[in-house]
Amino acid sequence: MKVLVINCGSSSLKYQLIDSDTEEVLAKGLCERITIDGRLTHSTTGKDKYTIDADMPDHNAAVKYVLNALLDKETGVISSLDEIDAVGHRIVHGGEKFAKSTMITDEVMQAIEECNDLAPLHNPANLIGIRACKSLMPDVPMVAVFDTAFHQTMPDKAYIYGLPYEYYVNYKIRKYGFHGTSHSFVSKRLAELIGKKPEDCNVIVCHLGNGSSITAVKGGKSVDTTMGLTPLAGLPMGTRTGDIDPAIIEFIAGKEDKTVEEINQILNKKSGMLGLSGVSSDFRDLDKGISEGNDRCRLAVDVFAYHVKKFIGSYAAAMGGVDAIAFTAGVGENNPYVRKLATEGLEFMGIKLDEKANETRGEEMKISTEDSKVSVWIVPTNEELAIARETVALVK
Ligand code: AMP
Repeated sequence: MKVLVINCGSSSLKYQLIDSDTEEVLAKGLCERITIDGRLTHSTTGKDKYTIDADMPDHNAAVKYVLNALLDKETGVISSLDEIDAVGHRIVHGGEKFAKSTMITDEVMQAIEECNDLAPLHNPANLIGIRACKSLMPDVPMVAVFDTAFHQTMPDKAYIYGLPYEYYVNYKIRKYGFHGTSHSFVSKRLAELIGKKPEDCNVIVCHLGNGSSITAVKGGKSVDTTMGLTPLAGLPMGTRTGDIDPAIIEFIAGKEDKTVEEINQILNKKSGMLGLSGVSSDFRDLDKGISEGNDRCRLAVDVFAYHVKKFIGSYAAAMGGVDAIAFTAGVGENNPYVRKLATEGLEFMGIKLDEKANETRGEEMKISTEDSKVSVWIVPTNEELAIARETVALVK
């Protein structure tokens, strides 16, 4: 089957066409600046990548450009739209309504819309993407794959905040967690790598990228995760604070006469690695800063790795032990220094990193020593492939 995977943002749309039999990416690309002017970057496997300015007043126009790029006689990969067997859409928030992926129907779209409150920047954009695809490919089956669904197995003690219970009842304020597709994909692969069934092991997945989250996966199910009602919680990230004392918000508002919206911007866009270092949200720039003696870059990475280590320890405790740990996403796969800082001193709980193996970047690798009781791995994530697999499973 050929599956088109769509990840739609408010002004962007990422896509991949995947052959689900071989799991090969046939083509992929990105539409940017939708509703502003428009730009398409497209690459077909084995051919040159190209970028064109394109008129994209809305997402329908963007999807048309994508389909034309896939159909193009010279640079495309299909000769008719009939060759697209299914479309898988990444949806950020499924609230408590969706504990797994689902075929998209009018009722499902309505239910996704009812979750808009919980992800006001993302869900409306995801819905626009679905509508655009439906209008251009009305007969192609479509599947919604939710970032939150994998975490719906968390027990109430893990997802309830210490707020008056009415806030949960009335507004569904609770921990939902994100990056679920990645945590699910990586935890399954990790179980395979250690030769166990997912039901028979406890693993911790550290998805460390620009956005970062860590999940405790017990017996194949998410039992706790670091992100919360929104992706702002948990680890300090590229530009997000992660967990902070909530009283800080009122404190800053008083000191700087800022509105809640302005403070929200600071917490989401100006904090984390960027705010701490004053240099960049990108770990490559932080590494460079550290090598040049920049102490705030050093501090930013130290803070990040320290929090990763604390969550590893607390999730091992929450699960009553851990068999294996995976590092994934941009930083998790490519940054030996962060992995080293995050695991050093954990020998007491059976974690011993192999320094040489830890130099590996971007490929699957065991990075703990043979005598490490807990095995530690780099497991590259592949959210698009995971979405394609889920889509095929439902469509077939
Ligand atoms: P992500 O959000 O998963 O794309 O991760 C972005 C982060 O991963 C950035 O901070 C990058 O510095 C880091 N990253 C991505 N690729 C590499 C790489 N090849 N080498 C080092 N760091 C990388």
